[in-house]
Amino acid sequence: MFPTHATARAPARHRTLARHLLPWECMRVHHLNCISSCPLGGRLIDGRSNSLRGKLACHCILVEAGDELVLLDTGYGLLDVQAPAERLSRFFLRLLDPEFREEMTAVRQIERLGYSATDVRHVVLTHLDFDHAGGLDDFPEARVHMMRSEVQDAIKQQSWLDRQRFRPQQWSSYPRWSVYEPLAGESWFGFDCVRNLPGMSPEILLVPLIGHTLGHAGIAVRGETGWVLLAGDAYFDHDELDPEQPRCTPGLRVYQWMMDKDHKQRRANQARLRELRRNHPEIHIVCSHDPRELEADAGHPLDIPVVPAPPEELPGIQP
Ligand SMILES: [Zn+2]
Repeated sequence: MFPTHATARAPARHRTLARHLLPWECMRVHHLNCISSCPLGGRLIDGRSNSLRGKLACHCILVEAGDELVLLDTGYGLLDVQAPAERLSRFFLRLLDPEFREEMTAVRQIERLGYSATDVRHVVLTHLDFDHAGGLDDFPEARVHMMRSEVQDAIKQQSWLDRQRFRPQQWSSYPRWSVYEPLAGESWFGFDCVRNLPGMSPEILLVPLIGHTLGHAGIAVRGETGWVLLAGDAYFDHDELDPEQPRCTPGLRVYQWMMDKDHKQRRANQARLRELRRNHPEIHIVCSHDPRELEADAGHPLDIPVVPAPPEELPGIQP
């Protein structure tokens, strides 16, 4: 059962999970936008904005996994909101102009759902870019899981762009990181080297998708309605996975080209994701930044935080 800590900003109601559930049963999935970014380029970026800047999501997934919470990617965190100039690069702050609203951080949205930061026992990262790892500091009890090659490359801080995107200022959780080799594991719907992660449900899987970064991975979770694959930054535009007519806004095409660390593998993995969508439409694939995907999954516009469901609608959960 979760501890039910009261915090100043948490709603009065707190949730507890039923004791009789096994850890991997009844995994409920929440789709959270953990701070939008507003890249220069408007409609050329998101295909729908009418101003100089577009608007992209930062799609994170919260999993209620039996008696613990697992967070897939963190988005920006409280410290990024409080002191962006100290934590983030001037280059990306100007390019992306993130909407720093505290209520949109993962930790504040988790509190809206009735939980506390310490209920999050695991964070799994698709990769270490600043807009995915910024919230790590907000979850002091969580073990952090990612690919070994991601850490190995990020800590080198080799190029100018590496130093802008990988921000050691966000890594106070470093002693709690667990890293995994890409070569060990099993196959999952045609993807190789897939593995589950020690200490959590066997139905949360790390799926290597190298390209955007050298240790980039998707994260698959079997929720109440089937498999969901958070593909991170393996693609940016929902239409890139269209099996018949893949397409991407010009702005996002340039951005992906600018940011990828292995162009060939990124293209190959995107093609594999397209095949996965064609052959297994029952698997729900989402990326980190497409605003339409986020809105469809969350069931509300990009700019509002998670809306807690009434307790009676949550199977296995007692108010
Ligand atoms: Zn990203």
